[in-house]
Formats: sequence, C-alpha cells, structure tokens
Amino acid sequence: MTFDLVVQGGTVVTPTSVEQLDVGVRDGKIAALGAPGSLAAQGARQTIAADGCLVIPGGIDPHVHYDMGFAAVRSEDRKYSIAPAWGGTTTVIDQVFHEGDASLVQTVEERKASAAGLMAVDYSFHVLLSANPSFEVMDEIGAVIRGGIPTIKTLTTYGWMSDDGHIWGVYNEVAKHGGLAIAHAEDDAIANWLTKKALREGRTHGAHIVETRGPLVEEAAVRRLALLAERSGAPLYFFHVGAGSAAAAIGEYRRRGVPIYGESLITYLSFTADKLWDDENRGLLWNNYPVIKHQADQDRLWSALTADELQVVSSDHFSTTSETRYERMGTRVDNLQAGQAAVEMRLPVLYSRGVAEGRIGLRRFVELVSTNAAKIMGLYPQKGALQVGSDADITVIDPNASWQVRWQEHHMIADYNCWEGEQLKGRVKATVLRGTPLVLDGSWVGPTTAGAFLARTLDPRIVGPGADLSATHESAGSPG
Ligand SMILES: [Zn+2]
Repeated sequence: MTFDLVVQGGTVVTPTSVEQLDVGVRDGKIAALGAPGSLAAQGARQTIAADGCLVIPGGIDPHVHYDMGFAAVRSEDRKYSIAPAWGGTTTVIDQVFHEGDASLVQTVEERKASAAGLMAVDYSFHVLLSANPSFEVMDEIGAVIRGGIPTIKTLTTYGWMSDDGHIWGVYNEVAKHGGLAIAHAEDDAIANWLTKKALREGRTHGAHIVETRGPLVEEAAVRRLALLAERSGAPLYFFHVGAGSAAAAIGEYRRRGVPIYGESLITYLSFTADKLWDDENRGLLWNNYPVIKHQADQDRLWSALTADELQVVSSDHFSTTSETRYERMGTRVDNLQAGQAAVEMRLPVLYSRGVAEGRIGLRRFVELVSTNAAKIMGLYPQKGALQVGSDADITVIDPNASWQVRWQEHHMIADYNCWEGEQLKGRVKATVLRGTPLVLDGSWVGPTTAGAFLARTLDPRIVGPGADLSATHESAGSPG
C-alpha cells in the first residue's frame, strides 16, 4: 500500500481533533491518517517532514476577482493564481459578471471556458447579477444553481446595483431552487447624499469616504437584505462585513435561527480608516468597498468571528498596480479607487494576528480560513477537512517562523503590499493541491495550471430551512 505522499510528524487539525499524525495521500485523496512514523513504513513516493509544524486543510478563499473589469481597470489575470498557493490557499471562488439581457447560462459557460486550464489552484464561481435582471435572466437562476454554481450575488450600490424589488425577485428564485444569495451591502441612497454633502463642504480627500460610507451605510443595507432573505426563505451570505453594527445585525438574525452568514476581510482585521490619511504611503490603497472602518468596528469584527456571528475571513482579492489605481481610478471621495491585493496574505496574516497573538484558537482559525467556506459554499467535505476521502489539499505552517513582508517577494501584480514591513509569525512551509505539492520550503515545485473547476452543491443542513447554525462553530468550547 504505497502512498504517493506522506506528510509526516506534524500537528494535524482534523474535524474532531488536534493531534500529531501522519497524513497519507493516494490518487489525490487523503487515504489514511496514522500515528507518527506509521504510514511511511508502508511505502511513500514522497514525504514532507512537518515536525514542529501545523498541518491544516488547504485554505479556501470564497471571494476573489481575477481578470475582472471595474471602473476602467482590470484586476490581475490568472497567471497570478499562484499567489493563493504561496499563501496556503488551494481553492478560490471567483465571480461570473452578468450584464444586460445576455443569457445567464451562456455567460456562465463563457466565463468557465475563459478560466479553463489557466488556474494554479482549484476554483469555482459565484454569479454576480448586475443592475436589475430581467424576468428572462431570473428564469435562468434555477438552471445555473443546478449546474453547480448555486451562489447568486447582487449589489445594493454603485452602477451595478439592483433595486430592492429586483433583489426580492432574485431571492425568491434562489429560495425556490435551493441556492444561496450573496450580498454586497451598502445603502446607496444614504451614501450618495452623504457624498453630495461632503463635496459641498469641501471634504474631497478620499479619506473622507469613511464619513460618506460609514457603519450606518452598511448596517442599513444589511438589515434590509436580511429582512428580504428571511421573508423569501433564501439563505444569505454577506460578503465583506466591515462595520461592527452590521456584524451585530447578522448576529441578531442568526440567534433567531435565520440562515444568514457573513465574512469579514483580512484587511478590515488588520487596519482602520486612519490609514487612509497616510498620503506619504499612498494610504488610499488601503481602501475597499465597503469602506474600511474604525477601531471599534475592528474590535467588534474579531468578537463576531469568535462568536460565530461571522464565519469566514476572505480577501476580496482585486489586485492591480498602484499606478493603475491612482491614474485610472481616483483619489477623491466621489471616485476613490478600491480593491485589495490580499489573497496571498489572508491566511498568514490571520494566523499571525489571530492565533499567534492569541485572538482566536487554532481550530477556529481553520474554520475561518477553510472549513466554513467549504461548508457554506457547498464544497464540504471534499474540501475543508483533513479526513480520509477528502481531497488532499494540505497546508503546512511553520508556527515558529518569523518573517517580514516585502512586496517584491509576493506573487501578485500589485507593486505594494498593505502589510509591507510587518513582521509576521508563522509561515507557509508547504501547500499541496490534490496530492501534488505546489509550494515547498520557499520554492514553487508544482504545475501552475492544474487548478480544476469545482461544481458545487449546497448542503441543506447548512443553508436549508431549519439549518443547523452551529455547524460553522464546531470548535466552540474545544481547546486549541
Ligand atoms: Zn469583491
């Protein structure tokens, strides 16, 4: 019984334990978990020594944007999809942007075809419905869900926003066909009025954006969409929650048993809006939509992640050069650029700030970077678990390695890094995709285009009526 690969001697985080184990891989799947030293004795073509290291399921980032146009710029293309693997992530979920009256099914197929054979890590897509979808487009939602893309996103702001009536229509279709609604939640009308007011008063510097798109703007949209989700019966997942009050609102709904989930972003957990005033270091590059907020919000986000009001930490990766962002987007309160080069940083930064600095336990960390995204997005237990039968997506972290962030060493197109110069604790030692090592001890050792498309099927125990809302918090009360 020879194994293709054995990851030896590490501290392994399984769905039920944290213990020293060897992980045996055969044919891209986890074939065995055994006592240290027990598996390699059966024969192994390759071993990775993980002594003193943590072994976790490969990271899953459910919110990235590759090769996507926004405000006259384009995010980096798929050859940069090695960056997730460098940062310990083996699966990403990108978006299919739908516009106008084009067939939704056809738009999905075209996007799938455009990515085929180009991704370094496994990937799937959400559908992003822009503006107000027609009845004909809504009629295709069921087919798209059945075709393996069960997560349907709408926005409440910007040129791509849908109005509440159309969102209500979409949520009803999502509920009818067993999908999951996804939301970008910012109240457009309040933001627009506050922006007009800021311009009238001469507050034009981009950093004023936190006054025009502050916590209220987010919370107002979250509460409205949560109401529509509850009444329609659609489960709902909030992208990029940045406001403490928005996280609290999600928590209120969850405590009533409504299947509403949410993610925060690694940048929101790392920085505050004060950063935007740092003109010398081009602080506006720290902006995102929703806008990065205050220290009190950041504190509330950490407690929301601990209490399972929020379940996931994602990147909202939209990477461009700084020149592109400044010259082709803007720096004023009414045209400010946004987007994060963060997919490579998400897992290491959350480990450093979360686990190493004592804010979250190791098992919660694994839920936040991998397991919960798999459960909510319909990839579990193929992904997100180190157990026999799951894909052998494995990330090995050396918890004692300390390193300094330098943008010249990352693998994203951005010529800056929001964490530049920071000393992080814990470094990715190895990233394995379906049994094939991609990154090992600081070198790229695998193929760069072996990522496969993942058709997803949602788990009714997570997103159905009467969903078990404790399923994303199995680490509760457990040591580590
Ligand atoms: Zn996004």
